[in-house]
This record gives sequence, structure tokens and C-alpha cells, in this order.
Amino acid sequence: MKIYADNAATTKLDIDAFEAMKPWLLGEYGNASQPYSFSRGAKKALADARATIATCINAMPDEIFFTSGGTEADNWAIKGSAFADSCHRATITSAFEHHAILHSCIAIERLGYPVAYLHPTRNGVVTPSSLAEYITDDTRLVSVMLANNEIGTIQPIKKLCKVAHSNGAVFHTDAVQAVGHIPIDVKDLDVDMLSASAHKFNGPKGVGFLYVRKNIKLAPFMDGGAQEYNLRAGTENVSGIVCMATALKHNIDKMHYNKSHVINLERRLISRLIAENVRFVRNGSGSILPGLISLSFPNTDGESILHRLDLMGISVSTGSACNGSISEISHVLKAIQLEDSFAKGTIRISLGKENTERDVDSIVEGLKKILG
Ligand code: PLP
Repeated sequence: MKIYADNAATTKLDIDAFEAMKPWLLGEYGNASQPYSFSRGAKKALADARATIATCINAMPDEIFFTSGGTEADNWAIKGSAFADSCHRATITSAFEHHAILHSCIAIERLGYPVAYLHPTRNGVVTPSSLAEYITDDTRLVSVMLANNEIGTIQPIKKLCKVAHSNGAVFHTDAVQAVGHIPIDVKDLDVDMLSASAHKFNGPKGVGFLYVRKNIKLAPFMDGGAQEYNLRAGTENVSGIVCMATALKHNIDKMHYNKSHVINLERRLISRLIAENVRFVRNGSGSILPGLISLSFPNTDGESILHRLDLMGISVSTGSACNGSISEISHVLKAIQLEDSFAKGTIRISLGKENTERDVDSIVEGLKKILG
């Protein structure tokens, strides 16, 4: 028995998306940048994929820039925005962003660009009032993730954007965990930049995109050829991009069904744990990504729960990173000020559309055995 319950780490490739990518690897392998007829199909496939993705998030095709994934999109948003600003104005982000954002912020700090880190509430929310406290007319960029990857809390992006814009700042959101799982409309949210990664929505690994609203100043990320409107050089990954667009369209077409399936599984898991008298707290509250469940068990160790579940064929992840024999509490759990005795015993279960009620029951049985 193998139960995969780590869909926030990556997801299974959509089979139709896989089929859609094959022609661009085999017969039609032309370089999309070449002018001859052999490459015409690849060029059109790229344009179609860009248009499909744009429609999925209510953007224009020329506002979609293909990247090698979420990490690159985040790096580009943070560094590209800083490097386009000769005045070295400040960036504001939150303390519980993914390392792709946090480490990019550290990198620009080293180059003399100031960065401030907002603290989320204990419920896992970055409030517009905390942003309003920090922001000044010397803030260039605000970057707050759409949904946290460890605890799933969905941030009040529209309200945060309003604060940023009313102070003249640009707003970026890392939507890597959210795209393909909850409705995203960049115009309605009013974001200026948004990062996404295909492998989080049943697309292939190593491909993603950055949405950049027209007229936003951004320095190029890769120097080289003229691809991606001269901003991100490198021969386009046509097969990966076609696969990503197909996977995203599929997930969006079935979003309502998938969402309610996963929410039902999530409810079953929580109610069965309660019925079995397992002591736990669920991290984060308010609006949470469907299926993402961060659970903390008192006076135990998340790493050892992970390994014991693994022996039972169940894959989940932890909220603590094991460093040799020491379990380190993640920066996310630290940022929400979870007590150490709970934080150390944290696991993240992320259910996806492939999971079943039987999977959930096995996870509950497994946890009962380990914790009982
Ligand atoms: N941002 C968030 C919120 C993520 O969860 C991840 C991946 O886990 C990334 C960025 C990085 O994306 P990628 O794996 O495509 O580099």
C-alpha cells in the first residue's frame, strides 16, 4: 500500500497534459525562436499555451513570462524589481514566506536594498494593518504569499494590495500553492506580479510562470537571447510549457469538483482524529487551502512521525526540518509563535484529488498507532 499525502510538495502529472507534451519532444522538436516553417508549430504552441494560462488567471498573454518554476519566478520578482530601481527603495515581505522569497530578500539586502519582514498573526495571517504600519512612500515592493505552503492559510491579498498601492508600492504574490486549486483572478486581486509553478497543479517539474502586469518595471532575469520579450533569455521549454497549460486548464475546469472532494476528505480526517481521541491542534485558521492540514501533536517529534508513517507506506511532511539528530522548528511555525512542545511534533498532510476515503482512514489508523 502506498499513500501519497504530500501534494503541497508536488503532484502527480495529469495524463492528458503528459500526452499534450509528447509531440513537442518527439516529432515537432523545433526551436520556437527560429523563423523557418519547421518551428512554426512550436511557436504557435507556445503562443497558445501563453494565451491559455493568461485566460486561467484573467491576464493578457503578454503579461505571462515562462520560467523554470516557482523559485525562479520568486527570485525574479524580488531581484528584478530591486535591480530596476536605482533609488534602492525598500521591499516589505512576511517572515513566513517560502525560502525562494526569503533568500532572495537576503540576497538583495546584501547588495544594499533594505527589506522589512512583517510578522503574521498566531492564526497565520498577514494583516493589512501590520502592512500599513510598516509601509512608507519609500517602499518599492510588497511581496506576500497567497497561501502559505506549510499551514495553508490564505492571505487577504486584495486588502494588502490596496495598502501597497495607496502608498505607491508594487505588489507581488507567491501563489505557487494556490494556482490551480482556488480561483485566481489577477485583475480582481489587483496584484502586479504573481508566481506559479506547474508541478503544484499536476503539471511537470521545472516549469512555471511569472505574471507581470503591463508597465511594471522589472530588470531581466536571464541575460542572453531575446526570448520572453527580452526579459528572460533561454530556449523555451515548449513541451513543458504546453504540458503546464494543459494541466492548469484541466485543474481549473474541474476545480469545483476537486475542491469539494478534498474538503470532504479533510473533514473526514479531522473528525476521525477527534473521534479517536488523538490530541492535536490544527495550525492556521480562517481561510485555508483545501486539503492542506498542518497538525501539531504535543510532546512528540514530527520527524519520527514522518518516518513511522513512511514505514507504513504513507508519505507526509513535517513542520520541522531535521538537522542531524536535532529537529529544528520551521521558520513558519516560529513566525506564528507556536509553542515549542507543539511545533516539534508537527506534520503537514496535504490531500489531493487522487486521494480517497480509504487513504484518510489509513492515515488516521497510522497516527493512532504512533501516538496512542
Ligand atoms: N513558493 C512556494 C509557496 C512553494 O510552496 C514552493 C515549492 O514548494 C516554491 C515557491 C518553489 O517552487 P518550485 O518548486 O517550482 O521551485
